[in-house]
Amino acid sequence: MLPAAQNIGSLLCDGIGDAVLIRGEKAPGQSLRLAYNILQAAGTRIFKTDYVACPSCGRTLFNLQHTTQKIRAATGHLKGVRIAVMGCIVNGPGEMADADFGYVGGAPNKINLYVGKTAVKFNIPETEAVERLIDLIREHGKWVDAPEPATVEI
Ligand code: SF4
Repeated sequence: MLPAAQNIGSLLCDGIGDAVLIRGEKAPGQSLRLAYNILQAAGTRIFKTDYVACPSCGRTLFNLQHTTQKIRAATGHLKGVRIAVMGCIVNGPGEMADADFGYVGGAPNKINLYVGKTAVKFNIPETEAVERLIDLIREHGKWVDAPEPATVEI
């Protein structure tokens, strides 16, 4: 899996090619998922929401793993939107790449929200920060409601 991502991804990043066919993964659908992920990571095609998260370290100001899961659950249907989740303001904003929105630890349990590389909301209590992030995405016209789950008749 890793060699495929390295070999194909580096070509795609250089603008060579715009489609991928991977064979040989054992689990059903795994080759297709891998191909989609490589295309999206290289920026060649967009199939889903894109996330950038820092690896966390001693400076992390909130539970990064739990919060990233919450943000993914709330925004995972926003195809093409890039969201960065970074543990602190020391290095986080500089590592957000080209994210559209950033959720960054500003102080213990306080969050700053970014649009691109610009901080626009400061010291939001962590308990309401995911909702404020959603508000910000709405304000910037990037929000759509999640599709209704299919109903199953019993
Ligand atoms: S962004 Fe901050 S918390 Fe995250 S890894 Fe970098 S220094 Fe640590």
